[in-house]
Amino acid sequence: MTGGTAQRLAGIELGGTKTIVVLGDGTRIVERREFPTTTPDETMGAALAVLGEWNRAAPLDAIGIGSFGPLRVDAQAADFGTILATPKRGWSGAQILAPVRRAFACPIGVDTDVNAAALAEHALGAAQGCGNVIYLTIGTGLGGGVLLDGRPVHGAMHPEIGHVRLRRVAGDAFAGVCPFHGDCIEGLIAGPALEARLPAHPADLDPVDPAWDPVGMDLAELLAQLMLTFSPQRIVIGGGVANRQPHLIARARDALPGLIAGYLGDMDAAALSRMICAPTLGDDAGPVGSLVLAAQAMG
Ligand code: ADP
Ligand code: ZN
Repeated sequence: MTGGTAQRLAGIELGGTKTIVVLGDGTRIVERREFPTTTPDETMGAALAVLGEWNRAAPLDAIGIGSFGPLRVDAQAADFGTILATPKRGWSGAQILAPVRRAFACPIGVDTDVNAAALAEHALGAAQGCGNVIYLTIGTGLGGGVLLDGRPVHGAMHPEIGHVRLRRVAGDAFAGVCPFHGDCIEGLIAGPALEARLPAHPADLDPVDPAWDPVGMDLAELLAQLMLTFSPQRIVIGGGVANRQPHLIARARDALPGLIAGYLGDMDAAALSRMICAPTLGDDAGPVGSLVLAAQAMG
């Protein structure tokens, strides 16, 4: 290859509220478009129009799609690349992969938005060199992507870390806001839960206010269970809530040694602050992850 020309990649990060379409010189973003996620037809149509424009300028080598879930990620399944039952109106059964396949003959990769973000942090960010990686996003919802030996966990479906139910802090009576489970972890610490649970909007509440105590403990409980279950070398935590309330990660780190109670070896403060961190790629972890999926689709 002359001058080491990188692959011309494109990615779609299909989010619950907004969609980001990126053009990559390899996995480096060189152009981006953003629009609100509305109906499946309108949203996929807008993404395809942008990809078509870039493809006419010079053919795309591969496309990656990171989508909100639940998403069928089993390539052998008849409904591979479709959204499964979701409370998000109009999106149950929506085809994400099929319309892109109809429009483009190049290799196309698809995975959940959080698996994509985990792949991005693994390839280029805070989780380089780590085999087992968990990427959590705490925003409107709580999602988690899991890499084992560098590969996204799929299996029967994909992990739905946001909906695990955990031991609660003694005396905490908040019922939780998940429409399915009440006090699953998403129902306890994602944005809408915090708005229901805290005495003021989270943006207006002092980080040292004791109302944050059970929130930090709930996050610690989640991290302890993930560490005991998956043996991650990195847990990268992004999303609007985590970004704006960094004290929550600090609180959780402080509580972890007590919860793990000596079981996992060297859980000192330095080890925990290496293991549990913010995404190096920031809000670009998802879009860059869609480019990593495109690169991987090329083989
Ligand atoms: P999304 O998850 O939809 O992609 P974000 O990651 O930006 O979006 O997260 C949005 C959530 O962040 C909302 O539920 C909102 O309540 C919450 N939020 C906004 N500002 C703050 C803040 N200062 N502190 C904590 N949470 C916040
Ligand atoms: Zn739930």
